[in-house]
Amino acid sequence: MEIKIKEAPLKNKKAKPGDESKLGFGKIFTDHFFNVKYKEGRGWYDAVIEPYRKLALDPTAMCLHYGQEIFEGLKAYRGQDDAIYLFRPSENIKRMNASAERLCMPPMDENLFMEAMKALVILEKDWIPHGEGTSMYIRPTMIATEAALGVHPSLEYLFFIVVGPVGAYYPQGFSPTKMYVSEEYVRAVRGGIGNVKAAGNYAASLYASRIATNMGCTQVLWLDAAEKKYVEEVGTSNVFFLIGDELVTPPLSGSILPGVTRKSVIKLAQHLGIKVVERPVSIDEVIQTSLKGSLKEAFASGTAAIISPVGQVHFRGKEYLINGGKTGTLAEKLYNEILQIQYGMKEDPFEWRIKILDGKEKKKGKKQ
Ligand SMILES: *Cc1c(COP(=O)(O)O)cnc(C)c1O
Repeated sequence: MEIKIKEAPLKNKKAKPGDESKLGFGKIFTDHFFNVKYKEGRGWYDAVIEPYRKLALDPTAMCLHYGQEIFEGLKAYRGQDDAIYLFRPSENIKRMNASAERLCMPPMDENLFMEAMKALVILEKDWIPHGEGTSMYIRPTMIATEAALGVHPSLEYLFFIVVGPVGAYYPQGFSPTKMYVSEEYVRAVRGGIGNVKAAGNYAASLYASRIATNMGCTQVLWLDAAEKKYVEEVGTSNVFFLIGDELVTPPLSGSILPGVTRKSVIKLAQHLGIKVVERPVSIDEVIQTSLKGSLKEAFASGTAAIISPVGQVHFRGKEYLINGGKTGTLAEKLYNEILQIQYGMKEDPFEWRIKILDGKEKKKGKKQ
């Protein structure tokens, strides 16, 4: 399918943010967005990149009532030579389609998805910030748009992609987070939708997040729903523990989101000669090993921050320090390795990086 491009007239284009240190996350979007419609029997049609605008939805659009809504999150990176890269975008495309399948939504054509992302990022390339650690966030989304009440899979959908510049996650260096262990509320249950990126999971997570904030913590450490015993995730990130000299992470048991960063951390750690074990980790083990000192590091992994070190765990009214509350060497190493691959600063042994736009030619030799 061809993607039509309707460019916004120059006079309607927004001013680009001047101060890259104030970008933050998820507040600024560019001049255009991609969208394509779906109708049962017709398939996907009218793929277009057009000026950014509000959506028009019927008040009974099914996404507003029954929660058929899925999304993805990835980034475009500007290299030092101005080349533009995506990091493992095929993984996000496949995961979006796994989410679609689980919520009885239609799969998106993989080629169209990739081409739409590339075309939009390239059209908006001047919005990609230059500073270290900054990037352009890409948010593909699919919503049910059929105007009808009554619970059934919608017969109509809208798939869209918006992009926007985001700031460096750690402008002042790492600051290890404090986790609140939620025993009363859970994020997801096996057999539910916790293993796909469905909007409903985030609505379900808000209440425990609010409790965590009120307790002075940064994130929720989620336990499994059945026994409230095993660690599943941290906030909206996967979680790793360095216990002794093994890097341990919970297995993808059905209620954990299969993170692209998680998968990359596992591969990279193995490549660095570290033993990685996917096995259940109980909160009891986290507490006991933190007391004994064999829990050397804990960190979360996700696209937004890459690696987010955990310095403290708040469990049943007590606080437990991990690595003296400081960022671990392994967390920092993994962060730097992945970041340098993403920005084209070092070789990419796993072919994770895709260059979507060439940079400036390097000048060979010095000027006389
Ligand atoms: C998106 C997400 C992650 C991290 O996935 P990445 O692909 O690494 O960004 C982990 N857990 C949850 C619940 C998520 O929504």
